[in-house]
Amino acid sequence: MRIGIVGAGILGLAVARQMARAGAEVTVLEKEPRIAAHQTGHNSGVVHAGIYYQPGSLKATLCREGMAMLREYCAEHGLPYDEVGKLVVASTRAELPGLHRIAERARENGVPGIAELDAIGLREVEPHAVGVAAVHSPHTAITDFSAVARRLAADLAEAGGSVRLSRPVLAIKQTADDVAVAAGPERLTFDRLISCAGLGTDQVADLARAGGDVRIVPFRGEYYRLADPARGLVRGLIYPVPDPRYPFLGVHLTRRIDGEVLVGPNAVPALALEGYSWASASLRDLRRIVAWPGARRMAAEHWRTGLREVYGSLAKRAFVAAARRYVPELAPADLVRTQGGVRAQAVARDGRLLDDFVIDVRGRIVLVRNAPSPAATSSLAIARHIALTVPLTS
Ligand SMILES: Cc1cc2nc3c(=O)[nH]c(=O)nc-3n(C[C@H](O)[C@H](O)[C@H](O)COP(=O)(O)OP(=O)(O)OC[C@H]3O[C@@H](n4cnc5c(N)ncnc54)[C@H](O)[C@@H]3O)c2cc1C
Repeated sequence: MRIGIVGAGILGLAVARQMARAGAEVTVLEKEPRIAAHQTGHNSGVVHAGIYYQPGSLKATLCREGMAMLREYCAEHGLPYDEVGKLVVASTRAELPGLHRIAERARENGVPGIAELDAIGLREVEPHAVGVAAVHSPHTAITDFSAVARRLAADLAEAGGSVRLSRPVLAIKQTADDVAVAAGPERLTFDRLISCAGLGTDQVADLARAGGDVRIVPFRGEYYRLADPARGLVRGLIYPVPDPRYPFLGVHLTRRIDGEVLVGPNAVPALALEGYSWASASLRDLRRIVAWPGARRMAAEHWRTGLREVYGSLAKRAFVAAARRYVPELAPADLVRTQGGVRAQAVARDGRLLDDFVIDVRGRIVLVRNAPSPAATSSLAIARHIALTVPLTS
């Protein structure tokens, strides 16, 4: 079985390793000159415990399984992994019902060690945080997903597979017998092709003539980092109670494995698929995004929230205010702009942001169409799930 994988992010590499270890001949095709160049190398580095997700969803199941697999994998390979714990903090009494629902959902999802804390209890975990109550998830962890991706690539090589860098997939032709792929100057033939292309998902789907009712809309997540000595004010992860309508919104404080503390991310529309700043815009990408009815419906429905996020992007004081709500000792000078990332978020034709992971099988081609957070946490479990979906026989 010859398997081609598009994308050397954490997902493509986890799938490649899984398939190669099961005996397939695996080739990963990556358009960039290095692995983990996009979402995998530009995220918060949080190994999520699976608190918020809809019980029974792929996210809920694969996040929990993925976290356990990743913990074991990091231990086995000496990769960084630190259970710093996460506090979800209610800063007003009005947020208490929402906080309680989070604790209930976490228990329903089988998240271990969940505790509900009062104002004093939360300060025992995070001495500089304030709030009226919190939910504590002691096993939420941090890691370096780029380092994990590099180790997965090494495992793949040991199992006989290869990663071909600077090989953009430019053409795909599926027949009854195989899938022919043009990747940069190379022409390759596979029995199966699996796309884990993140922000490039729609281009790959179009090349494979696999239209569909979802399209990727890029949302940039911007961060500040805390300067020294303010980073000493945060031990682990401090999150707000999420708004159920916008679960990925809400600036939080995140300790990183290298000791930095991040404030963010927000979520602003990116002006290009790989639009890492306001200056990075692509007319071609914007035309494609605006042409999608789902993107226009989403904008019409959520423009107020969008404007608030854009204001937060342009005015540092909004970011500082969001962080000070949880750690009031922070001063504006403590926050320094740092590199952000762009989320590949699938949006349905009716304007709905797809919440769950989406994996689409079209004959010999498998397309991962929605793999937002916590897909890095879940990557090993998603790989196992895909391996069960794609039988290793012709
Ligand atoms: C700001 C931010 C914060 C996040 N925080 C977290 C977190 O704390 N925890 C968590 O679990 N998840 C988090 N995520 C989500 C997580 O980073 C992603 O879900 C995960 O990295 C997806 O991995 P991937 O391999 O699918 O995508 P990517 O890492 O984006 O990889 C896709 C690859 O495909 C390549 N590609 C695209 N098109 C082509 C083509 N035509 N030919 C060849 N190659 C191609 C790209 O160059 C890229 O390298 C965050 C994401 C962002 C953006």
